[in-house]
Amino acid sequence: MKIYEPLISCDSMVALPNSTTNNTTIFGKNSDRPKIESQPLVQIPRKKNTSKYTQCQFLSIPSTEISYAHVGSKPYWCWGYEHGFNEYNVVIGNEGLGTYIPVSSKPKLIGMEIVRLGLERSKTAKEAVQIITNLISLHGQGVFENNQSVRTYDNGFLIADPTEAYIIETAGHEWVVKQVKNVEGISNIHSITTNWDDISDTALSTASLLNLEILSPKLNFAKTFCDYDSRFDGRGEFRRLRSCTYLENKKKNIDLKEMMSLLKDHSDGENFNETQSFLDTKTICMHYPTPETDGNTAASLISELYSDNSQLSIHWTSMYSPCLGIFLPMFIEGEIPKILSIANKEYEVNSPWWMFRQLEKSCRTEGILDNDKAAKIRSKWNPIQNEFYQSANFISQEANQLKQNGDFKQMEELLTDYMNKNTNTVLSTLHNLLKV
Ligand SMILES: [Zn+2]
Repeated sequence: MKIYEPLISCDSMVALPNSTTNNTTIFGKNSDRPKIESQPLVQIPRKKNTSKYTQCQFLSIPSTEISYAHVGSKPYWCWGYEHGFNEYNVVIGNEGLGTYIPVSSKPKLIGMEIVRLGLERSKTAKEAVQIITNLISLHGQGVFENNQSVRTYDNGFLIADPTEAYIIETAGHEWVVKQVKNVEGISNIHSITTNWDDISDTALSTASLLNLEILSPKLNFAKTFCDYDSRFDGRGEFRRLRSCTYLENKKKNIDLKEMMSLLKDHSDGENFNETQSFLDTKTICMHYPTPETDGNTAASLISELYSDNSQLSIHWTSMYSPCLGIFLPMFIEGEIPKILSIANKEYEVNSPWWMFRQLEKSCRTEGILDNDKAAKIRSKWNPIQNEFYQSANFISQEANQLKQNGDFKQMEELLTDYMNKNTNTVLSTLHNLLKV
């Protein structure tokens, strides 16, 4: 039986305060990966670096003095993250891209490592752009030979903070940056054409050296570097169109629930309203269509980033299919339940990620997704999710008050207890759903 190319893809999207209902930046990402590559959620405290070098998978690079506290959604084998957030409310997600840059024989950074380095080193989205573009110029990324069977690719990044957002797209050591004005989605296709705000110094000379087509006086980065055929059947183009259209149509009315609907979206694009029915593999919430195929949404993040000191930012995380699971509200100011960090290569009975993977499997009849089973699972989660919407806002305001008063220990305890309680509720519900 033919195993198709895994649907390793992703969608990231953002709505800035000028486009949301409550003046927050709302960031969303679905990380789509091989269907049994686990992706635990890890929290790393702020650290003073004693070593001069930071060891990544293939490269050792100079360390900074401090690595900021952050939370990352981490493919179990990888040093880096698919997406994450840090103590300054900088949020970053990446996308795999295909380009005409030839395979390099020299080791480079992996895109997911760049996500982590950005989180460890930035206090704002603008600063993250500076740090990430410098790392790309200096160390490069993209496709390179390696003996660890790590699938490498060029990357796009979406970076947000409470007031701004930027897109970076790359080709080897080359990059281009565009600031987001209101709403935007990115996927597995280059989106920045001549509308960039900044570009690497050597982009034009690299394009000339490789005899790539240079169509306009201002370099069209996507047209020049993007290998549109490298990602079969246009899934990235389709999904990007979907997320951008959705956000554009809902502009000024975007809130947490809208972003959640978008990450759970299965629409074929014909109907404006998102549908809960499973359609095909081009949808933003991605499922492997048959048991012989690969690729599934492995984890998701929605960050509500507050800039006005009225409440703490809330980061909503979900494991495996967002349309069959639940988003847990997380606060970096507290201790995120350690159980969420349990997941390795093989199935483990006490691993939340593997349990959510089992839940998706249980939603299939003879290997094919079953809408009736999905509806039953969703009806169990809905009241719990609704309770989280309300309680998360309340806790976020209460914790913020403690923070303003300097009661940091009390704030941390309040948030830690809250996250533990919610995680226990979710895991016991999950156990019950899997027992049926
Ligand atoms: Zn789904």
